[in-house]
This record gives sequence, structure tokens and C-alpha cells, in this order.
Amino acid sequence: MKVVKTKDSLSAELAVTRQNGRSIVLVPTMGALHAGHLDLVRKGKAVGDVVVCSIFVNPTQFNDPKDLEKYPRSLDEDLQKLESVCCDVAFIPETEEMYSAHELGLDSASATLADAPTPWNLDLGVLDEILEGRHRPEHFQGVSQIVYKLFNAVRPDLAIFGQKDLQQFKVVERMVALKGLKVELVMAPIVREPDGLAMSSRNVRLTPLGRQQALAFYRTLEEINRRYARVRSGESSLAELRNFANQTLTNSEGISLEYFAICDRDTLLEADESTPPDNLVALVAGWVDGVRLIDNMLLTGDSN
Ligand code: AMP
Repeated sequence: MKVVKTKDSLSAELAVTRQNGRSIVLVPTMGALHAGHLDLVRKGKAVGDVVVCSIFVNPTQFNDPKDLEKYPRSLDEDLQKLESVCCDVAFIPETEEMYSAHELGLDSASATLADAPTPWNLDLGVLDEILEGRHRPEHFQGVSQIVYKLFNAVRPDLAIFGQKDLQQFKVVERMVALKGLKVELVMAPIVREPDGLAMSSRNVRLTPLGRQQALAFYRTLEEINRRYARVRSGESSLAELRNFANQTLTNSEGISLEYFAICDRDTLLEADESTPPDNLVALVAGWVDGVRLIDNMLLTGDSN
């Protein structure tokens, strides 16, 4: 595996791949890699020729500076894990490689109009106002900005993202459409711990008790999925499901609920009885041990 730190060395590394007409797959991550990330890399190897995994803790997507500071970092282990799944290139830029001081708001005194960057303000529509967009102001502006930069640096044919961050996937889709980029986006299913907790880099910050308490998110999603069968057969309603989940999670020890929602998978707007029954997703976000966790589940009504 090649480890590269600059955009120039990345271009040089990928030039031959491109010349030979081989496809390039990008898996963007913020590191502290777990089996969910490695699954994306494996999928990349299955669908493309050369897989680039980026590890970059993107400062512009953290609306809370403490969260950025506490974000787990484990570069040496990450690189070993990437080797173990035959990743071809690890792109591990420093912050300065991806952002000018300007873009980080660090040199406003010396800024001149000529070198001022284009301010990043993408029209993400309602995605910026609902769910994660509502609870993490500026988060998706930062996400779309860094993914745009990574797409420009790597120029991938394909990029793989996890369903774990479903709204992020929609944001990237929108960014790609608005910017007219030629990249195919692939979404991979959520990888879970054996007990159901969605894998997340942030899980390492949970205490053993918090780790147990956090299971309430998965268990509630599962129960909602089971109960969804009764909505489909007309015995229950989406309103009942929402009430049940909100009550369960509000009463769950150790959990501070931010939102629970049942939405249309395509638009992420609140689902109603007119939403096609195969197109629903339940999404949840909340805090355990001062750690913010998110999860979601596509509703099928199956009790598996
Ligand atoms: P992150 O490093 O958390 O920014 O995540 C990098 C990529 O890995 C994103 O596309 C995430 O959606 C994806 N990802 C994170 N956790 C999981 C998981 N448990 N299962 C599958 N994909 C995941």
C-alpha cells in the first residue's frame, strides 16, 4: 500500500492507473478505522481496480470544537488495518494540504480580494435544515466542502459511503449534481457489533456502562421495524410508532435523545401514509456519556 500525504504525490501515484484505463475508487474516512470502514474498502476492491482510502479529520464539519479535539486518532493502527484489506493507496493529508489559512478563517487580517477563496456555501436545500442539518449547523457545508476537495484530488470513478450516515450520502449526491461531477456514488449497509450497536469511531469513547446503554438505539430501531409490519397491515400508524420510539428512548437510562424520525428514504422528509411503504427509514440521534451517536434502519416490517 502506498501512503501519500500531498495532492501532487497522489496525482502522480494515480496517473498510471488512469492512463491504463483502470478504475479508481475512493473511500473517504476520518480514521479511527473499524470493521465498517474496512467493509467499504473491501467493497471498493470488489467493484473497482484501485482503492484510495482517505483519512482526514475534517475541521470544517465539526460544529463543536471539543468534538474535533476529542475525535479519536489512531493513524498507525489505521494504516495496518488498511494494509490488511489490501487497500492500494492511503491518502493522509495534513489540514494545510486541504485548506488554505483563509478557508479556516486563520488569516483574515492579511486577506486580499485576489487570494480570497470562493466561500463555500452550497445550496443543500432542506437537507441543511432537517435531522443532522438542524442539530449540527454548518456540518453538511463542511462535509460537502471536503468531499468536493477529495473528489478533485482523487478524481475517482466511484466513491463508497456508508448508510450509517444516510443524510451525508444525500448531501454528497446533491453536491455531485450541483457541481456536475462525474463520479458514481455507492452506499454500503451499516456494519454492526454482534449485539447490534452500529460501529462508529466514537464508540471507543463510551464507558462500559454507556456502551450497554447505547444499545437502546438499535433495540428501538429493531422494535420499530417489527411494529412497522402492523402499520403495513393497517393495525397501527406511523404516529403510534413515533410515539413509542420517542417514549422508549426518552425513558432509556443514560440516553439524551436528540431526535427520532421516520422519513422517506429518498427525500428524508417525514413520512406519511402516502409514502410508498417500501421507502421508509427510521433515524435516530442522541447522546450517551457525552458522545453523540446516530443510527438508522430501513423499515421492512420483517422481524429478523
Ligand atoms: P467516518 O470516518 O465516520 O467519517 O466514516 C467514513 C465512512 O464510513 C462514511 O461513509 C460512513 O458512513 C462509513 N461508516 C461509518 N460507520 C459505518 C458502519 N458502522 N457501517 C458502514 N459504514 C460506516
